[in-house]
Amino acid sequence: MIIVLKPRTKQQEIDHVVNLIKSKGLDTHIVEGSEMTIIGCIGDTTRIDSKLFEVNPFVDKVMHVQEPYKLANRAFHPEESIVDVSGVKVGGGSLAMIAGPCSVESTEQVLEIALAAKASGANLLRGGAFKPRTSPYSFQGLGLEGLDILCEVKKETGLPIVTELMSPEHLELFNEKVDLIQIGARNMQNFDLLKQLGQLDRPILLKRGLNATYEEWIMSAEYIMASGNENVILCERGIRTFENYTRNTLDLQSIPVLRKLTHLPVIVDPSHAGGKWWLVDAMSRAAIAAGADGLMVEVHNNPECALCDGAQSLKPEKYDELFRDVAQIAKVLGKTVS
Ligand code: PEP
Ligand code: MN
Repeated sequence: MIIVLKPRTKQQEIDHVVNLIKSKGLDTHIVEGSEMTIIGCIGDTTRIDSKLFEVNPFVDKVMHVQEPYKLANRAFHPEESIVDVSGVKVGGGSLAMIAGPCSVESTEQVLEIALAAKASGANLLRGGAFKPRTSPYSFQGLGLEGLDILCEVKKETGLPIVTELMSPEHLELFNEKVDLIQIGARNMQNFDLLKQLGQLDRPILLKRGLNATYEEWIMSAEYIMASGNENVILCERGIRTFENYTRNTLDLQSIPVLRKLTHLPVIVDPSHAGGKWWLVDAMSRAAIAAGADGLMVEVHNNPECALCDGAQSLKPEKYDELFRDVAQIAKVLGKTVS
């Protein structure tokens, strides 16, 4: 249930509604917009009569929220959320342009890619230190050494870093060192991990599970938010369908749908969606045109020798072309890269 208050409602009146909600054993979430104040009720509202609130002249309307997600719900927060990743704004017209290798392989490799991506205009650097691989015999990532390399390259380039957290064992370390903590598709429903992310100060990049519905995906964001961290960015990365020509099927519809259902920024990873480097440019353009708040693209200086996902990685010069194409579309839409 959400209670919309009329413009210029006094603090005393807001407190009155909050106390009334709390006296029913529920929690509140207040959003003060430029035009109105919205009070969201968190908890079981089924036994509360909306008339309780409607009798107050300063209450504009009371709405029941059918969806199981509340904090992530657009109804709770009509304005788009802007997530601040160490100074880089994501959402509300500012794009996250995340680029970098699938896996961190060496300092030289990450530095070369990061410098090239930055020169193209990328504002965030990605690189996997801990890799979720389908086969235990595949390269598993450099682990802690990989994280140190990312930090070193961040120092050199000034680019904030994005990397995947797989185990709760590394929560504190990631909270200290990583600017945007990525939760991969395979961990989207690792509920214990999601709850623990709520305790962190860092923003979270939550990728869509391989076969997750929109509601399941948003509920995972709700887990993080309900545990105390509202800085969540969603990332569409393709889903499993019957088509196996491409690695996954990029669900571009998810962008307008998520925009309608939630206030969280939504970005797109075209690399893991298609699994082929030559699909990345077209899908990036389509994603930005469809309203995405950014892209996460795999870039490698030597894709042939990449230890992971070389086939879907762009060479830096191709990323440069992509960036220029995307920048033109962004400009038409009035969006910028901060
Ligand atoms: C990745 O971004 O490195 C990755 C493994 O992606 P996903 O979790 O979407 O498969
Ligand atoms: Mn990859």
